[in-house]
Formats: sequence, structure tokens, C-alpha cells
Amino acid sequence: MSVPPAKPTNSQPAPSGTGPSPAVMPTYGRVDVVFERGEGTWIISTTGDRYLDFASGVAVNALGHAHPKLVAALTEQAHKLWHSSNLYRVAAQEKLAESLCKVTFAEQVFFCNSGAEACEGAIKTARRYHYVSGRPERWRLVTFKGAFHGRTLATIASAGNAKHLEGFGHPADGFDLVPFGDLAAAEQAITSETAGIMVEPVQGEGGVNVPPPSWLKALRDLCDRSGLLLVLDEVQTGMGRTGALFAHEAAGITPDVMAVAKGLGGGFPIGAVLATKEAAKGMVPGTHGSTFGGNPLAAAVGCAVLEAVTEPGFLDQVRNMSLRFKQMLAALKDEFPHVIEDVRGSGLLVGLKLKPPAGDVGNACIAEKLLTVGAADNVLRLLPPLNVKEEELAEAVHRLGRAFRRLPAPA
Ligand SMILES: *Cc1c(COP(=O)(O)O)cnc(C)c1O
Repeated sequence: MSVPPAKPTNSQPAPSGTGPSPAVMPTYGRVDVVFERGEGTWIISTTGDRYLDFASGVAVNALGHAHPKLVAALTEQAHKLWHSSNLYRVAAQEKLAESLCKVTFAEQVFFCNSGAEACEGAIKTARRYHYVSGRPERWRLVTFKGAFHGRTLATIASAGNAKHLEGFGHPADGFDLVPFGDLAAAEQAITSETAGIMVEPVQGEGGVNVPPPSWLKALRDLCDRSGLLLVLDEVQTGMGRTGALFAHEAAGITPDVMAVAKGLGGGFPIGAVLATKEAAKGMVPGTHGSTFGGNPLAAAVGCAVLEAVTEPGFLDQVRNMSLRFKQMLAALKDEFPHVIEDVRGSGLLVGLKLKPPAGDVGNACIAEKLLTVGAADNVLRLLPPLNVKEEELAEAVHRLGRAFRRLPAPA
């Protein structure tokens, strides 16, 4: 009997700077650095380099790294029970659902594990609502160009990004895409088959696109006039990121259904579909499910994050820091008009529309030990943790300036 040759063992975690392991599917173009631990707004690599983290795991680490209250919530739950199953009641999940309902428009919550799943769940909720209302023909959603709702087959179809759809067969049917911010186009796209409108209050991946202030209100009115559900994707904008607990609050409206994830777990994977009781009326036993959704560990951390973000004064501080940051960035734009075209965003979801390629600027930031995130439309996102300190904002702006000086002089 032939024995297969022993595979090389790799008991040590990969050090920074040796290139990514070929054992991981290369679906991401990764920066060649491995992070080992984090403290607040700082994240430290295996080589001991300290980076100022203005990526926050793409708007995930809402309270920074290793927040003592989150560490305590997770470890306390870890000593008791990791997983039981949604075949039984889950105490922490019930608590998180009730807390979310208390502070939002929602009356019911479904838990899942990611933003894409939350969007999928929201789409299914909207379709089922019309189905059980005797209108099964209403199953399509009006969605928007430049949107990002995740990487599942339905969510890539809902956003219509050609790069994300290529090679994956016919896009899932049921989505009618119109330009973001174009009310007339949204209205014209509505047919007797439309179930609702799904939209991000601010497009994150799409380039930190802030719509006109009346936009969400107009979409709400349009849904009300046409008997449609308004489905908001607050996966990136939610949990305080824009300075309100959820971005739609600033528009003075509420949705019928909302997808939440990213910041909700502060770094632990969790997603949620929030809905009014009416909008969720089709989601009865057997219609939807998730093995891990709302698992005790995720829910315990979610409770701790929500508690921190809704503490009196927390969101005021986010708005204050946003204001200070935008002032600092406006001054930076004056100093580097050949680099920054525009500063945009809402709260601590900030985008720099750049003149040189955003990828080059992002790399220069890495060289200055500052983490940022790219977005479409040549935008560099700055997503500090929501509890960022003013001196850390100043330090980030300082590092941005140094990164800009690394760029080749404009022709
Ligand atoms: C990140 C994101 C998603 C997808 O979340 P995943 O957890 O990666 O599936 C969906 N919608 C928006 C607005 C996002 O920013």
C-alpha cells in the first residue's frame, strides 16, 4: 500500500511579508501583512508594527479592537454555551431582538451571520409579504446602480455590478436597477410585479455616495403610494456609523424591512433582518432559517455592542468626531488640492474622492502605517472605530499628508 507523501506542515502562523498561502483561494488581492492583535484604534502586525486602523475591518470593529466589554461578553458566554440550535429558544438572541426592537422601528428580528444573508433575508421577507397578502405576482425589487448588497447569487444580481456577476451564469431574476438618487427612474421602474424598493441610505462600496437629503423620504412616500415595502440595507451605515443609530433616522422616516450586520457584532460575525410585524407577516415557521443565526456567542456580543452604542452621549460623540474629522480633512484638501478632489460621507463613514489612483494612495497609507479601504469611483474610505479619539483623527490626517507626499508629483 502506498502512503501519500506527508504534506508540509505549517504550525506557525504565516509571518507578514512572505506572500499569501496558496492554500487560501485567492479571491482577495491581499496586502501582505498578518495582524496578531489589536488595542482600540491600533492593530499590530506579526512584525510588531503598529498600524492606525481606519478600516475597522470595513466598518465592522465599531468599538475598536479588544474592547473590554466585548471581550467580557464573549468570554463569559464562551464558558457557558457556544451553540444550541434554533430548534430551541436562545436567551441571548431573544434579548438582542428585544433590545433592537426597543431602539428601532422594528417589531421582529431574524438573525443570520453576514450582510449578504441579511439582505437575502430582507428580500425574502418582502416577497413573502406580498405572497401572503394575496399578491404573489409582486416579487420584484427596484434596486440601484452602484449598490452593494453582498456576494451571494441574489445579492450580486440585486446590485448589478458586472464584475461581480461575470462567470456566474444568468443573474438571478427579480431586480430592476435604476440610477442611485434618481426618483423619477425609480417611479418608472415600478410595475404590477414590484414588491418593494431596496436601497442603502449611503452607498458605501459604491463610493460613499450620499444622496440628496429628501431622497429617502421621497422613496418612503413612493412606497406608501404604490403599496410597496421600503427595504433598507444598513449593513454598513447602521449601528452608529453615520452618527445616528441607523442612517434613516436622520431622514425622519422608517423602513418596513432593514438588513443589518457589520458593526452589530463589533467583529464577531452576525447579521439581522429587522422588520415591522406587518412586513414580516409571511415569515412563519419553515419559511427561512439559519443554523448559526443568532447563536449564543454572536448574540451575547451583539447585546454588548448595542448597549455601548446606545449609551447616552455615545452618538453625540460620533457626530462631534465626524465634524472635527471633516474640518481636518477640509484643511488637508486645501493643502493637497492635486490629491483630494472632494471629502464626502456621513458621520464616520468618510470618503476621499481622489485625483491619483485610490489604490496608489491606499498603498502609500499602508507605508505610513495607516489602514484605509478603497471604494468605487476612485474613493478611499476612512472608517475609524466609532469611539475614536480626536488625537487619533489628527494622527490619521497627519499620516495621510505623509502618504500624499510619497506620491509621484503631478504631471
Ligand atoms: C458589506 C456589505 C454587505 C455584505 O456584507 P457581508 O457580511 O460581506 O456579506 C451588504 N450590504 C452593504 C451595504 C455592505 O456594506
